[in-house]
Amino acid sequence: MDSQSEGFCVFDFVISERRTWCKFDPAGPIFNFAHIYPHNHKNMSETNGAPKKGVLERLRDGVVVGDGGFVFALEKRGYVKAGPWTPEATVEHPEAVRQLHREFVRAGADVCQTFTFYASDDKLDNRGNQANKTHTGAKINQAACDLAKEVANEGGCLVAGGISQTPTYLSGKGKEAVQAEFRKQIKIFIANNIDFLLAEYYEHVEEVEWAIEVLKETGKPVAANMCIGPEGDMHGVSAGECAVRMAKAGADIVGINCHFDPFVCLEGMRKMKAALDKADLHPYLMVQPLAFMTPDASKQGFIDLPEFPFALEPRICSRWEIMKFAREAYEIGIRYIGGCCGFEPYHIRAVSEELSKERGGFLPEGSQKHDQWGLGLRLHTKPWVRARARREYWENLKPASGRPFSSSCSKPDNWGVTAGHDMLKQKTDATTEDEIKQLAAK
Ligand SMILES: [Zn+2]
Repeated sequence: MDSQSEGFCVFDFVISERRTWCKFDPAGPIFNFAHIYPHNHKNMSETNGAPKKGVLERLRDGVVVGDGGFVFALEKRGYVKAGPWTPEATVEHPEAVRQLHREFVRAGADVCQTFTFYASDDKLDNRGNQANKTHTGAKINQAACDLAKEVANEGGCLVAGGISQTPTYLSGKGKEAVQAEFRKQIKIFIANNIDFLLAEYYEHVEEVEWAIEVLKETGKPVAANMCIGPEGDMHGVSAGECAVRMAKAGADIVGINCHFDPFVCLEGMRKMKAALDKADLHPYLMVQPLAFMTPDASKQGFIDLPEFPFALEPRICSRWEIMKFAREAYEIGIRYIGGCCGFEPYHIRAVSEELSKERGGFLPEGSQKHDQWGLGLRLHTKPWVRARARREYWENLKPASGRPFSSSCSKPDNWGVTAGHDMLKQKTDATTEDEIKQLAAK
């Protein structure tokens, strides 16, 4: 296509070691999303010998877009079972995990997180789970590294090795036992020379401190996220204090993931930032929220909602809500912005599009099929749909749920038990029918 004959200027941007060519329409208020050339999917470090920029350098220089949630997306696609959240999908269905990595990269993610959520040996042995016996934790974690590295190399992305909270902690077995679980996973991440480490999904600040301590031993950059909201952790430690403690434990990047919707997570992040500023601590900030709206969730987030985990669909955020979130997050000063449960590739694409200017005009390949603010609808055959091809329409829409007999909010379950309580002691035996009857009667 001849750019001159169309009256476009051509800009050449180099962002996050990716090269993309965007045509910019000087007459228009926004990038013309219909005219994007695919960015070069080669890892620049492999093509020109320059060292790959690490996560901390990327954060210093701009925005890092994370990927989205694997467990919820792969559960819906039939590769993961809700409950144990079966990270053995990396061994059983590598093609499904690889494809999802690719879709997030196509949507503009800068990072491929290893799909190692709940892949500690104690979790793979918990409550009748046989995964540690049939596959072994080591094999599951190794397969996760192979897949994340493969796709990250295709897209010039970084690999983050992720660990998460453990049943060992919940059962009160103490620091040494908990850290021993983390070390088994981390040993594999280090053997694979992943780019940085991420401790995410911690409900108790004490456990994430123990995780950070172990991650710091490796010398790799360390990110730490808790799955808490503005009310703080499950033992009453405020969100601000949690952030300060994570930073003091040595985390280079601090934030919140999962459990709450994007805007509730940002409320928590504001509290974290205020406390960090007050303590004169300045780690990079990170947020990876749910893509489900949770204004009615209590302290433990969406886990307590009666719809968790099989009927959350009416709560899913639209791409427009995610764009609003990405902008607000950036304005707070958060530079690592991604997603957790419910975040599909199109949500990550929305983050990429909203922050395109901040990434020097970078637009992901996935945006070739998405004209911003619905401009593609100009090609629609029905005139009332063509009328929706404008920003004001989508920006102001309050989507209906289509469920006239549903209330807009729910009453969360709140059993008031947390780590240290007998009811949360974990075991390797399978849950019995009788136990389920007793729980249902509560
Ligand atoms: Zn999540």
